[in-house]
Amino acid sequence: MGGRILLTADCTLMSDYRHSEFLGFGTCAPPNFIPDFLYKWLFFPPINNQKGLPTSAPYGLRKIEAQLLKEGFSVKTVSPDNLRKYIVQAQALGIHVMDPFGLGPASSTLAFILKKEPFLAQYFRALLDSPEIRDAKKRGLKIIVGGPGVWQFQYRPKFAEKYGIDCIISGEAERVVGKIFQAAVRGQQLPQYYEISVEDAPKLEEIPDIVCPSVNGLVEIGRGCCRGCSFCSVTLRPLRWYPADKILHEIDVNIAGGNAGTILHAEDVMLYGSNNTIPDDKKLLKLHQAVVKKCEGVTWSHCSLAGVAAKPKLFAQVAEIIRQKQSWWGAEIGIETGSPELAKKIMPAKANPFKAEEWPQVVKTGMGLMHDNWLIPAGTLIVGAPEETEEDVIKTIELMDDLKDVRSLIVPLFFVPMGRLKGEEWFKETQMTNLHQELLAKCLEHGIRWADELIDLSFSAEWKANFVKPFYKIFVSMVKFKARQSQIDIKV
Ligand code: SF4
Repeated sequence: MGGRILLTADCTLMSDYRHSEFLGFGTCAPPNFIPDFLYKWLFFPPINNQKGLPTSAPYGLRKIEAQLLKEGFSVKTVSPDNLRKYIVQAQALGIHVMDPFGLGPASSTLAFILKKEPFLAQYFRALLDSPEIRDAKKRGLKIIVGGPGVWQFQYRPKFAEKYGIDCIISGEAERVVGKIFQAAVRGQQLPQYYEISVEDAPKLEEIPDIVCPSVNGLVEIGRGCCRGCSFCSVTLRPLRWYPADKILHEIDVNIAGGNAGTILHAEDVMLYGSNNTIPDDKKLLKLHQAVVKKCEGVTWSHCSLAGVAAKPKLFAQVAEIIRQKQSWWGAEIGIETGSPELAKKIMPAKANPFKAEEWPQVVKTGMGLMHDNWLIPAGTLIVGAPEETEEDVIKTIELMDDLKDVRSLIVPLFFVPMGRLKGEEWFKETQMTNLHQELLAKCLEHGIRWADELIDLSFSAEWKANFVKPFYKIFVSMVKFKARQSQIDIKV
């Protein structure tokens, strides 16, 4: 096989978010009271380049790069700012997307509230609209889009044609991406939408290791999830855990590329190596000991509250290992609701090994342990899930009161139809009740209460960090001011 391929992503994805993944949430916001250039500089500054190539790139893009290299293509991953330099020779361009139209839960919630298009949607369109891509299209460049955000194209059916996208790949692409790019470089007609079935998901041994560094040293430790929440599409994928050697090899690639820290990525890091919902002590501890030995810092992408609550002693041991080199670490967690009744309906296995009706207590126990052991969670709540009742919202508001002393961010997200609920209606701001508004205000109040401490923890004593820190504090003060101006009832 052969052919010259470029891979890229828009500038909201080609950023290291100042080495703080929390700041990545900033890309979901629409333009606001901060001038755009300053907002971009604060939340998603461009990634460093060396000889015109980014020093790191999104992990998903690096996986595709590795697969195409393995199959003999000539591949370069470039920043959007440097496309001009390389695109002239390219026969095909691969674009990685996470949330291309801002329809993901976080961005659509902010777009509904602030009534503007989020930055990530604006920059995705701007990338396709750039003169270098339009010129290359005229001379026959094929454009292929892939990544976790491709489901959004079904809500924008005319976009692909308008912007000259030749093929959209949905799902885990390792087995098919070579064939599609080969057809592209030969100038053949491509399928408009190529859906990879669950049966076609690659086996562990078919997933290549990255060959160039990923943003902030992120490495996958497994794929899939066994909890089966009805609103989630991840759960449809089979569960596979990578052997420790594979993970450590990818960390070596990142360290060689200058990323001394690592983010362990899985839907639930606590369940590493386990084939049920009980954490495996031996595998989890062994992995962390090996990773901490290699890296300057470790953080997690996601973990479950139930996994933490089920094994408090194990969690404390893992925390002790991680905190040998750092004072805290972070992870995204799904709280979703404070109502046992709603938990039973939409996520009956999320509390496993506890019962679904014990969910609020699982959340309180898990978050309490996180607070005590210095894991700072960014939690999400679902607002407006199908079958949600007033009583459910009241219970979530009560849960927020119980969590007020837990060092965390908690973000309310409007329901987006995905997974087994993809036929349901979107939740819109016009359906917001007074109770929903009270819940949103509680989350804002919680975030503002903890923001100063989280900013101090996120930015170390390094001079560069101390330089930017005041800007974030001013940002939080402005949010507080704007909330009061809009008569949102916050008590901070
Ligand atoms: S636990 Fe998380 S990843 Fe797993 S199915 Fe539920 S929402 Fe999806």
